[in-house]
Amino acid sequence: MGSASRRPWLTIGGHVALDLCNTRAWRLDPARSIDRLHGWPDLLDWYATVCPDAAPLGEQGKHAAELDRVRTLRDTTIAVLDAHLDGHDPGADQLGRILTEYRRFLRAATPEPGLPLRLHVTGTDAATLPPRLCAHVVNLLRDADLTRLRRCDGPGCGSFFLDPTRNRSRRWCDPDDCGNRHRVREYARRHPRTSRKT
Ligand SMILES: [Zn+2]
Repeated sequence: MGSASRRPWLTIGGHVALDLCNTRAWRLDPARSIDRLHGWPDLLDWYATVCPDAAPLGEQGKHAAELDRVRTLRDTTIAVLDAHLDGHDPGADQLGRILTEYRRFLRAATPEPGLPLRLHVTGTDAATLPPRLCAHVVNLLRDADLTRLRRCDGPGCGSFFLDPTRNRSRRWCDPDDCGNRHRVREYARRHPRTSRKT
């Protein structure tokens, strides 16, 4: 079971919904773009990493329909965030697609006692995962400080994160990844005779 090559999940987004978007790696480079959510076991593994306190879900079955709904939710969220960062209003059809999944969340949710009002979905059924993740997406789009939303500056990367720095200077998904590649490129540019181009 499981996928052949599991690597650590990228959890640099600062928000579960952004980490979900970032499971589509190198999404701005068609030659390198990969969907890291190959199958249901990948999705469960990712979910246990980013939401370790959430109720675990059963691993039986392929749950192709639920996986498809999570992918649709992710790709719609990516389109909404790209539009926002590019200075456009996200389309009503895209937001409506997210709302459709959010209605499922509201139907399945129960309130925690007390205030502020908190809703969550209990149960270990596979069908609860898309609405659970949609609640994170709606939280991001409605409650997060989107003035801190960034796309990694790495060519082709496209990873999203919320910049937590005081002077809003973060540029890279990961300083050891895209940040390091940038430093190598800059070094090669400044020292063309001593560095080998690859
Ligand atoms: Zn990056």
